[in-house]
Amino acid sequence: MYPELFNYIDGQFVGGRDRDGQAVFDPATGETIGHLPWASRDELDHALDAAGRAFEHWRSSSPMVRAEVLRKVAALTRQRADDIGRNITLDNGKPVAEAVAEVMNSAEHIEWSAEECRRIYGRVVPSRDPQVRQLVVREPVGVCAAFSPWNFPFSQAVKKVAAAIGAGCTVILKGPEESPSAIVALARLFHDAGLPAGVFNIVWGRPADVSRHLIESPIVRKVSFTGSVPVGKQLAAMAGAHMKRVSMELGGHSPVIVCDDADVDQAAILLSRYKVRNAGQVCVSPSRFYVQSGVYEQFVARFKAAIDGVKVGHGLDEGTQMGPLVHERRRAAVTELVDDAVSHGGEVLSGGTSVGEKGFFYAPTIIAGVPDQARIMNEEPFGPVAPLTRFDDLDEVLRRANSVPYGLASYVFTTSIKNATHLSNGLEVGMVNINHSGMAHPELPFGGVKDSGVGSEGGTETFDSYLVTKMISQI
Ligand code: NAD
Repeated sequence: MYPELFNYIDGQFVGGRDRDGQAVFDPATGETIGHLPWASRDELDHALDAAGRAFEHWRSSSPMVRAEVLRKVAALTRQRADDIGRNITLDNGKPVAEAVAEVMNSAEHIEWSAEECRRIYGRVVPSRDPQVRQLVVREPVGVCAAFSPWNFPFSQAVKKVAAAIGAGCTVILKGPEESPSAIVALARLFHDAGLPAGVFNIVWGRPADVSRHLIESPIVRKVSFTGSVPVGKQLAAMAGAHMKRVSMELGGHSPVIVCDDADVDQAAILLSRYKVRNAGQVCVSPSRFYVQSGVYEQFVARFKAAIDGVKVGHGLDEGTQMGPLVHERRRAAVTELVDDAVSHGGEVLSGGTSVGEKGFFYAPTIIAGVPDQARIMNEEPFGPVAPLTRFDDLDEVLRRANSVPYGLASYVFTTSIKNATHLSNGLEVGMVNINHSGMAHPELPFGGVKDSGVGSEGGTETFDSYLVTKMISQI
């Protein structure tokens, strides 16, 4: 059974099936599985008030206390991972093994914040007068409004909430209305771990109304959003108008560069796995494939064999490797991009169609010979589609790879150190993966440049955007 859903405000679960809200669907069947209750305006104000009051004591809590709560949350997360993962599969569609892995990996992120929050150091700066003591201290920024997406409904929220709470901030989170169960589960974890009331709150409602209400409130000092570039820009502009800090983890359009000297078979197998993960609805999904002419045919043949072997189905069915898209809106967007690529001369080698009568399935798709002017080479596909094109020399491919406004992740396959160095220096992105994918570990910073965002989540950088700097000079 799909769980009942709630807001979580000032330490209380607030909900009920009879209040205003919206339906939640299983994207594999299109059937309604739950009801998401919205918070009223008064309840949004209650959440703001609670987060503001809680900040007054949480800001000066010992990092040891914050670490202890976070460690308890991590332990409970592992205990409940199967249950949380199964519900993610129901409202998001991803295969249950991927969903459970997302939850287990999140436990590591929470532990990382628990460990690192004890190392938020300041510094003592030598002074020009021996009587003067100069200190630089880092303090929590204040109440944070956070907005997290549906593609990794648990882990994307965890990255924000664990860092903010570890830094001494309080949080009001609006999660994804498409896949809300993981967010309610996260609130339960913090509640059961003994987090004081008001430090973490979740609210639901019309996204634009909730974000405006929270961002414009003088109680909120920081805005963190993960989602699409257009919405990120809107929220950053609103935050800017009130001089509030932002961190933005936005869309990407990851170039893949397969060089003539690459281990082509290995590249094709790895890239087929990365491509169908979460049905391609991943901000770092490989999404523009540039293959050097000498190995183009070999790569296409191996990649097609791997993609054609992918088993598509309900995420709870055994053996399913790829589930549906999260909603009909995404399927329509993917279909438009594929049609446009074909009208520009691209050749569909695999897929290219919806699958089945029920749900929002789209087949794993390869389109060969896609020119740079096609929309799919410029707009993030966010679906299981791989557009392929050839290149001849490295400077040409760098220019083409850097030609879009996105700058999140990238992939390079080569056995040459010279090529690896040249490409990793030249790519305008936040993350470069050479001969594998090695991102999103808690100890590594994750984030983009250009339109792909501002700030990093993970690594020692994870607290930077939740802290402000204060200088103290004392005589
Ligand atoms: P969308 O922009 O229509 O909605 C995506 C999410 O943004 C929804 O969950 C919604 O709650 C939220 N949202 C929309 N308007 C908002 C507002 N004014 N205030 C606060 N939240 C708001 O996009 P979609 O069709 O669901 O997803 C497609 C795009 O979203 C992709 O192209 C991708 O760029 C982006 N996306 C990115 C990530 C990421 O990890 N960076 C994750 C999910 C989606």
